[in-house]
Amino acid sequence: PDSFPTSARLFERARKVMPGGNTRTTVFIDPFPIYVTEGEGCRVKDADGQWFYDCINNFTAMIHGYAQPEQVAAVTDQLRLGTAFGGPTPSEIELAELLVGRLPAMEQIRFANSGTEGVMMAIKAARAYTGRPRIVKIEGAYHGSYDFAEVSLDSAPGNWGDMPASTAYARGTPQGVLDDVLVVPFNDIAALRAVFAQHGATIAGVLIDPMPNRAGLIPARKDYLEAMAETAHAAGALVIFDEVISFRLGHSGAQGLWGIRPDLTALGKIIGGGFPVGAVAGRAEVMAVFDPTRGKPALPHGGTFTANPVTMRAGLAAMHALTPEAFAHLDDLGTILRDGTNAALARLGLPGACVGLGSLFKVHFTAGPITDYRSVYPGKVEKARLEAFHRGLLNRGVLSASYGLFALSTPMTRVDAGKILAAIEDTLSDVARAA
Ligand code: PMP
Repeated sequence: PDSFPTSARLFERARKVMPGGNTRTTVFIDPFPIYVTEGEGCRVKDADGQWFYDCINNFTAMIHGYAQPEQVAAVTDQLRLGTAFGGPTPSEIELAELLVGRLPAMEQIRFANSGTEGVMMAIKAARAYTGRPRIVKIEGAYHGSYDFAEVSLDSAPGNWGDMPASTAYARGTPQGVLDDVLVVPFNDIAALRAVFAQHGATIAGVLIDPMPNRAGLIPARKDYLEAMAETAHAAGALVIFDEVISFRLGHSGAQGLWGIRPDLTALGKIIGGGFPVGAVAGRAEVMAVFDPTRGKPALPHGGTFTANPVTMRAGLAAMHALTPEAFAHLDDLGTILRDGTNAALARLGLPGACVGLGSLFKVHFTAGPITDYRSVYPGKVEKARLEAFHRGLLNRGVLSASYGLFALSTPMTRVDAGKILAAIEDTLSDVARAA
């Protein structure tokens, strides 16, 4: 039913006390967002009492969906014991040991409260370690809300020269921020080498999401990542992986799948078991910039709720449940949905493709090969199709991100995947008829 009267009413109330009724840009949809009241397994209920398959999963964070018993038990116990203290707790050591044990490139880790902070600390650690100001990033890649990480996020076609320009995402971004972020096209070894040849001595690190969501959700090539490591290291710079999303691709994250060892890795989302979290991890020699045991560290970092034991224990429960079998199950569901969606697009003669890996997929309505941010930049027609696709799925009981992203969860079964695919097929038929 294209009818959400309670959500509409809640939004009117919200508009009076929050700008545009909104406290999180990413969850706004036009004309109003769907308010959610509860979740169970792979479904959520909206304020009008309707249940949906949830393929957003809080923008990929809820890999076990909702109310997973182990997470509920751990958190309930900790609520009784106290939720945050002015001192460390044993739980942070446990989660640190687990994560460091899973990722060969991570010798040490440090927690924070969001992926934004994880990325920010990784960038600042690269600067502190190298004593250099600049970073290199990929055109159109999203890394959270730190000024430097936001550069070129929505670079418009007018700025598309041979080399990407450093464009501001938010009005009022200081020119100094733009000067210190060098932007390169995705999967382009020659362009990366050219930037390092010109600016190598001032570059602290190169920031890369191995499967950048907003830049198309296609994987970085292994030879590109290898060339990136070689080029950066030759210039004395570091490689920073943003695995805030891609850590859900496998037991050792994307870096495990690709067999690459970055110097630093930013984490977030799934490692907090549904609670606010971020982290930076990496080689011990680099992570030493945070070490306070020999006086003021090169890079001091605090945070009132950092490593709070609720997040730590929820994260531990979530990570323990993410066994190799759980990843195999997620991969199976992802394959069913990607293959089925691509078959439907082909059958209907709709331009577009369904891309991604493991539990993540994305539907693009752009024609032509999907290679980078520019290749998936939606024109008017593609935007209208994305909107119709999102709305059609909503009306068929499936929540997806408004820009075409889907994230699956472990409680989903093959039967659920079949039902989600049927909704996708029906919706694509409508989109094709309207085309
Ligand atoms: N990096 C990536 C790749 C992300 O997708 C996100 C959030 N969607 C972030 C960083 C920022 O994480 P957070 O929203 O927890 O600040």
